Amino acid sequence: MSEIQPNPSKSALVLFSGGQDSATCLAWALERYDRVETVGFDYGQRHAVEMDARIKVRDGMERVLPDLFDRLGPDHVIDLAGFGAIAETALTSERAIEIDARGLPTTFVPGRNLVFLTYAAALADRRGLGVLIGGMCETDFSGYPDCRRNTIDAMSQALSLGLDKPVPIETPLMALNKAQTWALAHQIGGRRLVDLIVEDSHTCYLGDREHSHAWGYGCGTCPACELRAAGYAEWAQPGEVGV
Ligand code: ZN
Repeated sequence: MSEIQPNPSKSALVLFSGGQDSATCLAWALERYDRVETVGFDYGQRHAVEMDARIKVRDGMERVLPDLFDRLGPDHVIDLAGFGAIAETALTSERAIEIDARGLPTTFVPGRNLVFLTYAAALADRRGLGVLIGGMCETDFSGYPDCRRNTIDAMSQALSLGLDKPVPIETPLMALNKAQTWALAHQIGGRRLVDLIVEDSHTCYLGDREHSHAWGYGCGTCPACELRAAGYAEWAQPGEVGV
């Protein structure tokens, strides 16, 4: 376990999809913030498994981080079906995963993080939560321009101006590769947290919960599975990847 002291004056809202990255962010937030709530967005994802994963990962924190679990407050799910209807992609429809004319994968939902952060900022304001936390990451570059730190910085500035108060957005995974994200989870919660993420978080774009691997469930061949599997293999090697 790491020995970071939480700041009792702070509270946070974690953008929580139930995937590996946001599960790690939730544990990271519980370690640092007195009060933590989660928000998920239902924008017509093809797979209800993602919503199931959210519940299982949240509940699993009670056995993995028992000393921190009382910090975990309510979960919120925001219906963004209208956004999903506009931003139809390989994640929300039956389109194949491929690269489009801009060089972006068809799994890219245009403006997704900008929309999520706007809703999250409004919710955090209503709930009295001081900080937004998201698992955006630009290291394992997957072609998503709204995951870059400069996009997040611009969004933080826009929200701070628009809400007339500071809206900090923390992205603890921004500079980490997937192997380092596994290492961070291990540092926070040991093997039990890694096992929770392996068993109950969901990352596979195809929603595959039938095929079990050392790194979790998934088809094993979609871009999300490939990243997760390669990161796990790198981390699990003798000598472990540090953070
Ligand atoms: Zn997959």
